[in-house]
Amino acid sequence: MQPFRADLHIHTLLSPCGDLEMSPANIVKAAAQRNIQILGIADHNSTKHGPLVQKLAQKEGIFTLCGAEVTTKEEAHCLTFFETLESLAQFQQYLDEHLAKIKNDPKYFGCQVVIDEQEMIVEEVEHLLISAINQSLDQVEKKVHELNGLFIPAHIDRPKYSLTSQLGFVPPDIKADALEISKHTTRDEIVKKFPYLDPFTFIRSSDAHFPHDIGQTTTIFELEELTFDEIRMALKKEKGRRVFLNDE
Ligand SMILES: [Zn+2]
Ligand SMILES: [Zn+2]
Repeated sequence: MQPFRADLHIHTLLSPCGDLEMSPANIVKAAAQRNIQILGIADHNSTKHGPLVQKLAQKEGIFTLCGAEVTTKEEAHCLTFFETLESLAQFQQYLDEHLAKIKNDPKYFGCQVVIDEQEMIVEEVEHLLISAINQSLDQVEKKVHELNGLFIPAHIDRPKYSLTSQLGFVPPDIKADALEISKHTTRDEIVKKFPYLDPFTFIRSSDAHFPHDIGQTTTIFELEELTFDEIRMALKKEKGRRVFLNDE
């Protein structure tokens, strides 16, 4: 078993709040410099930059989980990741169907562009990506699992856009593959507050919006090799694979 350092919550410049310096190439460069071996690309309600990051990261031996940070109807953020580009595309279609059709004002919210390997703009996303989709937490979870993906409620301790801020608690029966906590808390603190969460796997990530954030907060995965299946097994604590936070 080998340890791999993961930062599973990174926004690219496609997120309106993501810095313009967050190009796929710059993200991979920063990850390589900081010895990150697993990247999670999770733009707000869009999966469109994952494949390019994955392509560039592969050359550096970095594994990429492609997905999105979905804003559910309850305004709770959830990380979602998919194994294949086919399932990623199917999830993108679902997001397109269910995102509120509010026009983005780039001057106010920031621009939402998809770029190619030459850093040329290939698409400007018209609808505001930080609004909620019209699907509930349960509906999003169901869709992600139908596509054999990973469903991880984001920064559950945060006072905004989290399960605890929107619902007041984490539903005990939530079918989450893991729960993400922010750098502002520890697993012990959360479990003390919500003892029924003890059996869950926790991850912690940077929620990077700027290049200097990447790899500042990480989770360690102990795996046999770097594959999606191994990552899933580690989250499920199967066959000796495991996940731990730096302070555990
Ligand atoms: Zn968030
Ligand atoms: Zn985020």
